[in-house]
Amino acid sequence: MNVYDGQRMAELLGANGMTAAVDGADADLVVLNTCHIREKAAEKAYSEVGRLRREDGSKPLVALAGCVAQAEGGEAKRRSPMIDMVVGPQAYHRLPEMVAQAVRGGRPVDTDMPAISKFDAFPTRRRANPSSFLTIQEGCDKFCTYCVVPYTRGAEISRPEKDIVLEARELVDAGAREIVMLGQNVNAWSYDGRGFADLIRALADIDGLERIRYTTSHPMDMSDDLIAAHAEVAKLMPYLHLPVQSGSNRILKAMNRSHTAETYLAILEKMRAARPDIALSGDFIVGFPGETEEDFTATLNLVDEVGYASAYSFKYSPRPGTPAATMEDQIATEIMDDRLQRLQARIIAHQVAFNRASVGKETEVLIERRGKYPGQMIGKSPWLQSVHVETDATPGDILPVALTAAGPNSLTGALLTKAAA
Ligand code: SAH
Ligand code: SF4
Repeated sequence: MNVYDGQRMAELLGANGMTAAVDGADADLVVLNTCHIREKAAEKAYSEVGRLRREDGSKPLVALAGCVAQAEGGEAKRRSPMIDMVVGPQAYHRLPEMVAQAVRGGRPVDTDMPAISKFDAFPTRRRANPSSFLTIQEGCDKFCTYCVVPYTRGAEISRPEKDIVLEARELVDAGAREIVMLGQNVNAWSYDGRGFADLIRALADIDGLERIRYTTSHPMDMSDDLIAAHAEVAKLMPYLHLPVQSGSNRILKAMNRSHTAETYLAILEKMRAARPDIALSGDFIVGFPGETEEDFTATLNLVDEVGYASAYSFKYSPRPGTPAATMEDQIATEIMDDRLQRLQARIIAHQVAFNRASVGKETEVLIERRGKYPGQMIGKSPWLQSVHVETDATPGDILPVALTAAGPNSLTGALLTKAAA
């Protein structure tokens, strides 16, 4: 989402007469977009800000943006004299005005979460990657006990369907072949009585849009209608990122996750019935307060049971202001390190198995960028695997490919026929 936000801020500043600096060191303005999900985010941001001072003592205008800005507010100006603007994630539409104030010597701070939508202020999309992000939903009302998102991104809000479809059309006109819908709880999207599956079907009607993806989902919002869409909508890619966090029901309860290991597995079973080849992904936290070896073993067992195609895992990071930060039995770092290593080894083993099982398949690859070697291009399979192909095709082409070899992080593919001109 920060990548999407960064693009939108750049476009907004562009519409206000600014151009991207060729070299960051020459920039008149630096916008530092930050994430606050895990520890040390603020420290990292301040040390980055410090590095923006030039050798001759001069400095660019500096805007601290994102969730660290939201959390720090005016305090950021006190902590670093380098910072000229502090702009929270719901106030980006005010950035041009804030820059104008800063040019006049002001030091504006805006961490409001106003009722008016920042999206309305963003200009028409004129540039797009073959695979483009599109934020459709922001914020979270779920309040998992470890998580800062409900505090930094605010309450769950969904963008209107017509705005989303319009932006998707603009992206496709600008060259996007795939749209990745984004939200902290993307599958909780609902607007005017329409649900997320309806939105997927509306996007699928856009000519020229070939692939639809979304991230990140919450198990509680995996409706039957959404699962059915995976069976029915050909453009919806066979990939689901569905964080579970832990395999232990005791820990899930302490996390306030509102699902159990069993209800989570039941959702995946329904999903596999609807779309047998679906690639599954998830998020895990190790070392949540009170996590025993037995709880952790339940997590490893769940990983084995699901057989993830990929997954992200993190050490629990206490976030000030969240309930878990003051829970008893915080876990020692060495134990967390050990569990993270064991979990990641298990995940990688499944990832390798998934990739190996893809070898021999004939499929389509969306070309996204140039590879390391001349003539080599890198794209994505429907299952979100990186595939290296030798071809003279260009980014945005969708090529028929036979998957011939697999490593842990990517596959090799051979072109089946010449790309359609
Ligand atoms: N809304 C999504 C997740 C958004 S945050 C969901 O509920 O699934 C992305 C991931 O960061 C989470 O899934 C979680 O695994 C991780 N995360 C969030 N807070 C964390 C914390 N305090 N410590 C470690 N990992 C955390
Ligand atoms: Fe954070 Fe996701 Fe839980 Fe919301 S649902 S509080 S974003 S982990």
